[in-house]
Amino acid sequence: MSRTFIRNAQVFDATGAAPYPADVLIEGNRIRAVATDLGSIEAIGADVIDATGMTLMPGMVEGHSHPTFTGVNMPAELGDIPPEEHLILTIKNTRLMLDHGFTSLFEAASAKLRLGVVTRNAINAGDFIGPRMRAASPEITTTAGLGDERRAHIYRESFALIADGPEEMRKVARLCMREGVDNLKINVSGDDFVTHAKASVTPMSRAEIAMAVEVGHEFGKMLVAHSRSAESVKRCVEAGVDCIYHCDQSDEEALDLLERNKHKHFVGPAFGLLYNLRYEHEKLGMTKEFLVDSGLDRAFDVSCETYHEMRRRGIRVVIGGDYGFAFTPQGQNARDISHFVRFFGYSPIEALQCATKVGADLMGMKDELGQVREGFLADLLLVRGDAVADVGLLEHKDNIAMVMTDGRLWKDPRRNIVREALPLAAE
Ligand SMILES: [Zn+2]
Repeated sequence: MSRTFIRNAQVFDATGAAPYPADVLIEGNRIRAVATDLGSIEAIGADVIDATGMTLMPGMVEGHSHPTFTGVNMPAELGDIPPEEHLILTIKNTRLMLDHGFTSLFEAASAKLRLGVVTRNAINAGDFIGPRMRAASPEITTTAGLGDERRAHIYRESFALIADGPEEMRKVARLCMREGVDNLKINVSGDDFVTHAKASVTPMSRAEIAMAVEVGHEFGKMLVAHSRSAESVKRCVEAGVDCIYHCDQSDEEALDLLERNKHKHFVGPAFGLLYNLRYEHEKLGMTKEFLVDSGLDRAFDVSCETYHEMRRRGIRVVIGGDYGFAFTPQGQNARDISHFVRFFGYSPIEALQCATKVGADLMGMKDELGQVREGFLADLLLVRGDAVADVGLLEHKDNIAMVMTDGRLWKDPRRNIVREALPLAAE
């Protein structure tokens, strides 16, 4: 069994405790010992890494990840990519996120039915090293909902599956079960960039949502929803959707419902998208007027108010910002941690917990992932400097000196080796 000894690290263990100096021993894929009594661990024969001046923390969990999103401007363009090229781009994205310290990806939707599933299977089979993954279905929507990119006069591929009425929903959801998804994604509300279904509109009916939940839960899978309108949040809580994204227009009633059921639900703001639109729109050739007129600019302010409330009410919130569009490049994902501190009122420790411990809970692995604790899985990072004093350090991959996934070194701080340069096969 392989043994790795990390000595003299500043440990952020994600339990909520302040960072402390410790030595950590990893055996196989598990954390064997965390010793605050420095020098007390017997580590003869172990591979030794000196972590002086570095923060040891759990690998991060991307709670709203889209490894199948390839830097397109609009989601409709995802339908134009042939499946063969799309799979390769997806695999590249999972490895890019590993480089940036994300050792788990909770997929929020796959652009094609089998892309996330096949990528997850290949990682689990050891065909290549990648993050842990829960694979999502494509976005399931209704005619005229977010993701219905069809046109009356011409055939057009998109990134969504269409289901109208509970019986069509049953069939589409069962198809996703057959193909092996972990997360069933439904688009319950519209969005402000969709001309015919704005964020305040809720096209998916209670009966359709209930059917998706019935099928998904029967197969032991999670339900995840795109929900911006207050009405969509209420319908999702009532139906038992596990992870409800955005929720920015939540009113008092929606927040109360979420709070009363907080042990059942996760939420995620996907705030990176709104931040980049507000602060980096000029790079994209967008005007401020477009953002204001479309409602996207208002969504930023509304999100800030809503997530102050989510934090105050103790609702479980995960990071993940809809990265993967041209204006939200993959690799920026850790920006969300700084956003939580700057815009939602989280302390740095709380925001880092959203990126680790809460994310592990979302992955369904809270008892063995997302914390630096004896017996937990060895998904670990070494960050150059004090990552709690400056959470912004995590935004730059050069600051992430070590990435360990399931006990294996992907990035080695002693040799500055990134395994991206090596062949695809795992060792
Ligand atoms: Zn998304």
